[in-house]
Amino acid sequence: MPRLEDVLYSGQISEGKDVIEFEQKFGQFIASPNILSFYSGTAALHTALVLAGVRPGDEVISTAMTAEPSNMAILHAGGKIVWADVDSANGNLSVPAVAEKITDRTRAILVVHYGGIPAPLDGIRAVAAAHGIPVIEDAAHALGAKYGGTFVGGHSEFVMFSLQAIKHMTTVDGGMLACNGAQGMEKRLAEGRKFRWFGIDRNAPRTEVDVASVGYKYHMNNVTATIGLTQLDHIQPVIASHIANGRYFDQALQGLPGLSLCRWEEQAEPSYWFYTVLVEERERFSHHLAAHGIANSQVHKRNDRHSVFAASRCDLPGLDAFYDRMTHIPCGWWVDDARREYIVDVIRRGW
Ligand SMILES: *Cc1c(COP(=O)(O)O)cnc(C)c1O
Repeated sequence: MPRLEDVLYSGQISEGKDVIEFEQKFGQFIASPNILSFYSGTAALHTALVLAGVRPGDEVISTAMTAEPSNMAILHAGGKIVWADVDSANGNLSVPAVAEKITDRTRAILVVHYGGIPAPLDGIRAVAAAHGIPVIEDAAHALGAKYGGTFVGGHSEFVMFSLQAIKHMTTVDGGMLACNGAQGMEKRLAEGRKFRWFGIDRNAPRTEVDVASVGYKYHMNNVTATIGLTQLDHIQPVIASHIANGRYFDQALQGLPGLSLCRWEEQAEPSYWFYTVLVEERERFSHHLAAHGIANSQVHKRNDRHSVFAASRCDLPGLDAFYDRMTHIPCGWWVDDARREYIVDVIRRGW
């Protein structure tokens, strides 16, 4: 990658013009112009929670059906996690379950698009708006997914994308935060930039700056941004092949006994980070696939079973129903036509 070599030897490897260019181009790609970059998705989420006004002791409604970073970031911000139940048809937060958990201490709602299936944003955003609460989307699995005809990234106050090693797009590690909304955007972006760099405004002369608030070392560097800029040139066909494989499975795996497919709203167009199926006899299904050389796993442990989140435990019957049946099969860019036909053939043989 000649461009990467250029930046490595440029003498300007920290945050600079490549980072700014990457933020702009990433924003063009998801059609949401106000982007802040970070060294990880978790750092982006922590920042989003603080910018949303979450302070120690505030409640944040969240889902247990996700990777740990979604909820760890709430603890970083000092927030109190309140689980809302999920829709057993797809593992995403359910609108009535979210509405039920709102209190006068609720400061934010954190929504995950699990596996790349967009959550019911219209309903959740309506509940949030009725109470004046910001929505933070964890779109780590959902780059390239659409909701209501537009890309995930443009709908809520904050939308986080992860560029970690195994996501649709990767910069080895990295995170992007799309900020949306009409009011006070410049101020919000300035606060975010300070928060990601020790509370310091990088544009002001260092000796004249007054650090008035806590900041972290969360910024992205030019090397990472250069990898991202190069990835952006190739990302469309990568996402398109995830989607093509996912849609193929949607058709080919219909109506099999003992296996259900996820269902989602009409407005949602998934980007199929992985492909989730809901199976009876999951152990047997899993062994059958493994015996034929097909990777499959649950990927994530429901977060409410970690002791660090024990204080939030509550009944989640929708999650019970989803979690006990779900497993994921590969549908990424590396699955070619012959491979996906083979996967379907093996599943159709029964388990
Ligand atoms: C990958 C991931 C993140 C954050 O990832 P980083 O590794 O910090 O970039 C957050 N949420 C979910 C659901 C993820 O899968």
